Amino acid sequence: MRIDVLGVGFDNLTMAEAVERGMELLRTPGTHYVATPNPEIVEVCREDPEARAAVNGADLVLPDGVGVVKGAAMLGTPLKEKTPGIEFAAHLMEKLAEEGKSLYLLGAKPGVAEQAAKRLAEAHPGLRIAGTHDGYFKEDGPVVEDIRQSGADVVFVCLGAPKQEKWMAKNGAATGARLLCGLGGSLDVFAGVVERAPRFWSDHGLEWFYRLCREPRRIGRMMKLPLFLIHVKQEKRRR
Ligand code: UDP
Repeated sequence: MRIDVLGVGFDNLTMAEAVERGMELLRTPGTHYVATPNPEIVEVCREDPEARAAVNGADLVLPDGVGVVKGAAMLGTPLKEKTPGIEFAAHLMEKLAEEGKSLYLLGAKPGVAEQAAKRLAEAHPGLRIAGTHDGYFKEDGPVVEDIRQSGADVVFVCLGAPKQEKWMAKNGAATGARLLCGLGGSLDVFAGVVERAPRFWSDHGLEWFYRLCREPRRIGRMMKLPLFLIHVKQEKRRR
């Protein structure tokens, strides 16, 4: 049973459980995908039915940040903990390396995925990088074919939300991969192009504020955060 937060259903798992579930999906025949929405994406899903269907259609829906966890608690249906996509990915790569599985990196500006591949292969001995592709392509076909040819077990799809969720829902099966994970700006962090907020900020639920200070152009997107809280309060009253 998923926990509903304003129309998006979240899996109620600890990080360890989420990674275990990811590995189970990898062993299960067929193609599966993971979404990691934050409050901003929940708000997008309220207005965009295609985005909502793509997110809810994921085999694993993980709360990316503290905002969703707070929202769920306010609604009286608490989630165990936040399971940020980038941390989920890091734990998953540990397991992939242990099992000698291969990973394809899709997304970000030209050159970034290659740089991330180099750093990730160094950080996780045993992890096989099947291929990379930037996220600024016009046609899906050649990219899907490149992933299929690579024989990758797992694909990190980092095109930003909700583009990446729609992309996975539409193209996931054709890639032939077992598991695709939508991870937003994670490749920029793995490549060392963008820094994550220091622990202090994320421990206090203020990662969004740190990012806003570093990238003020995000203000428009971040105005969705207070909107999310207003909608959660309205929903609480309604229930
Ligand atoms: N991106 C991409 N193709 C696009 C649009 C965006 O590959 O058409 C990449 C962008 O370069 C960045 C990531 O998607 O690496 C989105 O990062 P952002 O921090 O905005 O995502 P979030 O983690 O907030 O969802």
